[in-house]
Amino acid sequence: MLIISACLVGEKVRYDGCHCLHQSLKRLMEEEKAVAACPELMGGCSVPREPAEIIGGGGQDVLNGTARVLTKSGEDVTDMYLMGARLMLQKAQEVKADLVILKENSPSCGSSYIYNGEFTGKKVAGNGVTAALLKQHGFRVAAETDVRE
Ligand code: SF4
Repeated sequence: MLIISACLVGEKVRYDGCHCLHQSLKRLMEEEKAVAACPELMGGCSVPREPAEIIGGGGQDVLNGTARVLTKSGEDVTDMYLMGARLMLQKAQEVKADLVILKENSPSCGSSYIYNGEFTGKKVAGNGVTAALLKQHGFRVAAETDVRE
C-alpha cells in the first residue's frame, strides 16, 4: 500500500485552499493501491492557513528541537507540524506502507527540497518534518516529481 500527500490527489488541503492534482497518483487512489493523507491537517492546521517555513534548519532539526516551524507572520506552529508527522508515521505503520509519495518543497512533505525559511521562494536541499520522521523510521519516501504524470 502507498500513502500519497492528499493535495496530490486533488484534495483542497493546501495552505491556500487549493490542490496540486497529479493525474497518475490520483489513478493509484482510484485503483485502491493508495490512501491519501495530509499531515498538516492531521496536526490541527486549518484550510486556508498562513504559509509556514522551517526556520533554522530542516525537518530533522525540527525533530531534534534545534529548528522551528513559523508562519510568515511569526506564529510558532512547530507543535502542529510535529503532531502531523507523528500521525503520518502511525498511519504508515498501520497500513505497512511500501512507499510514501509526498509533495516536494513543503515544510511537512518536502523530501528533497524545502523553502529556506526566508519566505522569498528560495529552496534548499532538505526534508520537511513528516518526510524526515518517516525516513528516520525506515520508510521509503519519494516526491511527486519522481513520478510521471
Ligand atoms: Fe499537501 Fe503535505 Fe501540504 Fe498537506 S502538508 S497540503 S499533503 S504538501
